[in-house]
Amino acid sequence: MSFNVTAPLLHSAELLYAGTDFNQLNWFEQQWASWYLWWANPTLATGVMSFILHEVVYFGRCIPWIIIDAIPYFRQWKLQPAKVPTAKEQWECTKLVLMSHFTIELPQIYLFHPLAEFFGLSTWQVPFPGLKEMAAQVLLFFIFEDAFHYFAHQALHYGPLYKHIHKIHHKYSAPFGLAAEYAHPLEVLILGTGTIGGPLLYCYITQNLHILTVYIWVTLRLFQAIDAHSGYDFPWSLQHWFPLWSGADHHDFHHMAFVNNYSTSFRYLDFIFGTDDKYRQYKQRLQKSRDAMKGKTKAEQEALEQKFADETEKEGKIAEAEAEKSARW
Ligand SMILES: [Zn+2]
Ligand SMILES: [Zn+2]
Repeated sequence: MSFNVTAPLLHSAELLYAGTDFNQLNWFEQQWASWYLWWANPTLATGVMSFILHEVVYFGRCIPWIIIDAIPYFRQWKLQPAKVPTAKEQWECTKLVLMSHFTIELPQIYLFHPLAEFFGLSTWQVPFPGLKEMAAQVLLFFIFEDAFHYFAHQALHYGPLYKHIHKIHHKYSAPFGLAAEYAHPLEVLILGTGTIGGPLLYCYITQNLHILTVYIWVTLRLFQAIDAHSGYDFPWSLQHWFPLWSGADHHDFHHMAFVNNYSTSFRYLDFIFGTDDKYRQYKQRLQKSRDAMKGKTKAEQEALEQKFADETEKEGKIAEAEAEKSARW
């Protein structure tokens, strides 16, 4: 073995790696094995690693958006420029997100290892699968999650489910990065099934999946969710050179208008099922006004765009009130 592990910690954990030639492993794989050996308890090792990964990626990805919100220069790319979140709003949101991470998600993450083992997911095992294999699996998880989310999210807009569960997430009609996980615990559970259910199902069928692939997938999915809530559409944003990608432009409209755009990562399901009709009308209206307003001042154009946004949000408020009113329980 090429790394040092203190003797008392070895015990049964050492048996995990009996027969493994550590000299054949790369540096990352050696660190991975050291982590599992150090904890000498795979459930704890997986649980702690999953929790840390979630916290670091979530808040790490939110930090650039917090900074961007604080710099007026970036307002030119803000989708709803009149609604920049205040520091107080962001802090309130952070507190609720943190509370749900520690009270609801921590126990769930701890239960993840036994569940993963049941479905046959590799956790402590090294070496890792090849990059191509992992990339193909991650792509599949993206497609599965997007479809799951599309239907589950529409269900969450049904009267009683909206009133008692999804309404919390719709607190912000102009979302910001930190608001991505601002949601009712049941919503986290329901929509989280799309994120974790895909890998577990895949693993159950193929018996060929490593948790590292799941971590890469979860990291990318968190990036997607936070960026979609960021409230900014830059000229270099992903959807401008990969038109199937939803991006902030797509999901920001969902928060503003209450209707349309139920998917997460891609646009095609909303397009196929026609649940992006209002969104596309809105975009066309904006484009037409921009063409018609050529020669007018920037302030005049901004005022007109604000009027469109206000009208859309007003319609959204009516639709939201109707959804709540339709709830019999
Ligand atoms: Zn919604
Ligand atoms: Zn949202």
